[in-house]
Amino acid sequence: MVNSTARVIRVAEHGDASALQATTIPRPVPGPTQVLVKVAFAGVNYIDVSERSGKYPTPAPLIPGREGSGEIVEVGSQAQGGFKVGDRVAFLGQNTYADFVAVDTIHIAKLPDHVSLETGAAFILQGLTAVGLVRKGYNVQKGDWIVVHAAAGGVGLLVSQLGRLLGAHVIGTVSTEEKAALARANGAEHVVVINKGYEALEKKVNELTNGQGVHAVFDSVGEATFESSLNVVRRLGTLVLFGSASGQVPPLNVVRLAGKNVKLTWTTLYNYITTREEFEELYNEAVEFLEKDQLKVAISKVYAFDDVQQVHLDLEGRKTTGKLLIKIQ
Ligand code: NDP
Repeated sequence: MVNSTARVIRVAEHGDASALQATTIPRPVPGPTQVLVKVAFAGVNYIDVSERSGKYPTPAPLIPGREGSGEIVEVGSQAQGGFKVGDRVAFLGQNTYADFVAVDTIHIAKLPDHVSLETGAAFILQGLTAVGLVRKGYNVQKGDWIVVHAAAGGVGLLVSQLGRLLGAHVIGTVSTEEKAALARANGAEHVVVINKGYEALEKKVNELTNGQGVHAVFDSVGEATFESSLNVVRRLGTLVLFGSASGQVPPLNVVRLAGKNVKLTWTTLYNYITTREEFEELYNEAVEFLEKDQLKVAISKVYAFDDVQQVHLDLEGRKTTGKLLIKIQ
């Protein structure tokens, strides 16, 4: 028998990490096309910070969280995918800082027996994002030069690994020597430690590519990196924006792209997985990398449910590397 309440982390009004407060709400009731998941781990993503603070236009009150793992405890009457009670799953959803979450079956997957619930929660959003970036944002080719910003972060470590796996030369940016070592261990052939501005990156790219620039830049930092990203991309290269950790990129006069015929895109994972088929295609490819041991998920810390304020402080304070999880139950 499932409890009739759910324990959640709620943000009543946008604000700093202290806005994250534990509370109890009525347990969600799954719709006909949904399943109810008893959540084991919620993955933490930078977007949770942006939504909590109000930098993203998600209205408050809100329950943060975009992914998790756990066990199915109820299945809606029209749920697709053949899910049943007891299945171990990982999923993308909303409001996942909670012990029970109703999830649409479009974005949920049964975990292979040997994949733990920790890895499932750690992998599903950032793993699919990383595969989407290197396949669809810019299709990385053997011999390419690519720049990966925030290369020791959750997504950054995975993009660096995939870049190397696909035969590219990866140049990562990070803010500390400690992060640099981790980025190197995860596929970044060259790492630039950023102290003040990103001019050091431009100098390094010039040296390494004989002034030609890189084939692609994967930029999740946004405002602080955008000008350098445009400077280091080569003629006919691609700049893939996918995040705004430092703030939004200001409006751009697109005529500037004519200088090098640069392709500019701002990609979101969700636009790659609008149907179950699209989700499965990306998920299967990502899981194959995982199963062949070609992709390692670095879970750097698992926080207790009552420690959720600390995880946000650490993430926005640039203190973290790799993946962060909250143990829900
Ligand atoms: P990370 O673990 O990468 O954490 C963010 C990192 O950004 C920091 O550790 C820091 O690394 C770097 N950073 C640079 N400048 C700043 C700044 N001014 N403030 C804070 N951090 C800064 O987070 P995630 O892996 O969760 O996400 C990475 C990015 O990808 C985020 O921007 C996120 O929104 C985006 N994203 C986008 C998706 C999409 O579909 N478009 C999906 C998933 C994530 P350092 O100190 O080394 O510079």
